[in-house]
Amino acid sequence: MSFEKASVREAAVEGRRVLVRVDFNVPLEAGRVADDSRVRAAVPTIDLLRERRAAAVLVSHLGRPRGREPELSMAPVSARLAEILGAEVRQAPAVVGPEVEELADRLGSGEVMMLENSRFEPGETRNDPTLARRLAALADLYVDDAFGAAHRAHATTEGVAHLIPAYAGLLLEREVEALTAVRDDPTPPLCVALGGAKVSEKIGAIERLLESAREILIGGAMCFGFFRHLGVATGASLVEEDGVELAGRILERAGASSAQLVLPEDLVLGRELDAGTEVRELDGVEVPDGWMGLDVGPRTAGAYADAIGRAGTVFWNGPMGAFELPPFAAGTRTVAEAVAAAPGTTVVGGGDSVAALQAFDLTDKPDWVSTGGGASLELIEGRKLPGIEALMDKSAVGGKR
Ligand code: ADP
Ligand code: MG
Repeated sequence: MSFEKASVREAAVEGRRVLVRVDFNVPLEAGRVADDSRVRAAVPTIDLLRERRAAAVLVSHLGRPRGREPELSMAPVSARLAEILGAEVRQAPAVVGPEVEELADRLGSGEVMMLENSRFEPGETRNDPTLARRLAALADLYVDDAFGAAHRAHATTEGVAHLIPAYAGLLLEREVEALTAVRDDPTPPLCVALGGAKVSEKIGAIERLLESAREILIGGAMCFGFFRHLGVATGASLVEEDGVELAGRILERAGASSAQLVLPEDLVLGRELDAGTEVRELDGVEVPDGWMGLDVGPRTAGAYADAIGRAGTVFWNGPMGAFELPPFAAGTRTVAEAVAAAPGTTVVGGGDSVAALQAFDLTDKPDWVSTGGGASLELIEGRKLPGIEALMDKSAVGGKR
């Protein structure tokens, strides 16, 4: 099944002004972009527009400003993008308004400008129709390349898409294709590795994948919801409030499905969530009082790596332990290395899983590394993402491929 939304590749952009929603919600350190991978991910769409002599007006949110916070200006991101493109990127002083309209009017073919942080406008997250209209007034066409924000119905991701012809960007298209293939058409067998802190964030995805996976490997703090439900001692481990009940629901579903839900068989324990804490390995999963399970143990990690290596398709979301702390990074590293080396199709989603890949210098190994955390999980769950729904259908523009 291919993506049904109209693509920027099919849009008549020559000589037109195009509003491009990008996801440049990047980490900043001392006023500079600390990690530019999201900026780089949008470059193919921006380059396509420049090559086809369109004028590109970019817009993104950055952090969670309350009103106009100068530290969350897009200016450092514009500067980084200009370095990457080797071309000028004009920074607008605001998101909308007469001054911005004038700058947009003067933007020439093949040129690029960046609006201010969309969340400087309170109407952004409210999906305010007036803000959407003022955004639409800046351009002839709209292109959405912000997959990471596609699960939000905001003015720049959803509202504006109903007002001018709206196309999918190249990154958004590839994201949807890679994740939809995992969900609907994986090369069997499908092996899913899930970790991270909360069952509640991933329950929808787990329930959906139970229908198609051969095995679902559980790691991270999430496993303690399952252990608590099963009456296994969890000591001082992180157990999410609703996690125990949700874990029970998943175990019941798993029993009725053909998928195997796999829990850790050994753990790495620490006294507290700290790199300098006392550490011990536990050959088993009954966590004693005064100890926290902070990583899966070596036998578990090895078994998970073997399952990943035997799979036709692998989907990994969520670290296996508190990998940010060196004593508890081994389980996540073993899984990341297995994903990197796996012969099957490999797809990784989730902000912290991607951070783990970066920490182990493996980012370029999987077949697809998603720029969307929440959005990738919602897509896998089978939910409709408002930012994508709002785009024009291929059939509506008579597009062909
Ligand atoms: P992702 O962003 O990849 O979806 P999550 O946000 O769900 O992942 O979870 C990542 C966080 O979970 C990491 O910060 C990691 O330190 C934490 N974590 C994983 N395992 C444990 C554990 N056993 N105890 C405490 N924290 C954990
Ligand atoms: Mg996260």
